[in-house]
Amino acid sequence: MPEKRADSTLEIRDLNVSFIQGEKEANALRGISLSLKRSEVHSLVGESGSGKTVTSTCVMGLLPTPPARINTGEIILGDQDLLLLGEKDRREIRGKDIAMVFQEPARYLNPTLKVGDQITEMLILHLGMEKSKAVDRALEILELVGLKGGKRVLDSYPHELSGGMKQRIMIAIAISCNPSFLIADEPTTALDVTLQLQILNLMLSLKNTLDMGILFISHDLRVVHDISDWISVIYAGRIVESASRETLFADPKHPYTKLLFESIPDADKRGKRLQTIPGKVPDAENIPGGCAFHPRCPIAEEICRTSQPETKDLAINNRAESHTAACHFIGKQWKN
Ligand code: SF4
Repeated sequence: MPEKRADSTLEIRDLNVSFIQGEKEANALRGISLSLKRSEVHSLVGESGSGKTVTSTCVMGLLPTPPARINTGEIILGDQDLLLLGEKDRREIRGKDIAMVFQEPARYLNPTLKVGDQITEMLILHLGMEKSKAVDRALEILELVGLKGGKRVLDSYPHELSGGMKQRIMIAIAISCNPSFLIADEPTTALDVTLQLQILNLMLSLKNTLDMGILFISHDLRVVHDISDWISVIYAGRIVESASRETLFADPKHPYTKLLFESIPDADKRGKRLQTIPGKVPDAENIPGGCAFHPRCPIAEEICRTSQPETKDLAINNRAESHTAACHFIGKQWKN
């Protein structure tokens, strides 16, 4: 296994990103800050269109600029701000220090290259391995991701593999250079429930074996519950609540988080009407003033329409663990 690097935290600070189309400006990210530690799964959860994928592609340095424009912010890895690096340095970091697993492996695997070549390419490019050593390492990586069949699998083209195997190959490519951080963007959404569980368990075991931090992007709180150490809830390009998994599930404070929880289907709610969140996530071009959630919020008051709530840390009694939320009426209850 390659030597471990010293970087122990990946930190996103006050990230503001717009998309410019002619005269129009869409505010996709509006001050995202989050911290991801090695050996931790930090989930970013929210509905589609809330800014999850823009955040992950920005961290990977894959955001096309233009049309995207990074207005402010820092992405700190070790002692470097990744946003200040040129494309050559970003490419060097991509795959080696931070890698990504996507939702649809079929779209990201090269259909014309055997999967073995796609894994060894990373090892040769980033770690300078000779081909024969890279093949040996690729065989080890296949075992790590739970793929039996060794050389036969390496000699396969993506279309010869099942959906679950393709996702494991994607993960194999991502972890091939032993990255410090892995970004997993809805990696199980396209899979059936059994495969979902297998892939989640695999990711957890790899996190421990390889001492990686995982930024897990999802709209599904059930999945997030099973995998996360820490959860940040994102709405209209802002983190509205952030806490450890235990704290967030036991005591959600933000109305949006509470409504997300109420919309989780589970066995206890069988026969009861499932809550849905009224309305939809606003377009990044038309984010409401004040608190962006106010048109959908059951407890909105006048101040919510005019003033954007600050993010407050709710940690009490010097508790080491922070629990932040951005709402004028934190913890206020309402009747459904
Ligand atoms: Fe609802 Fe107002 Fe809190 Fe926004 S600030 S979540 S509108 S109560």
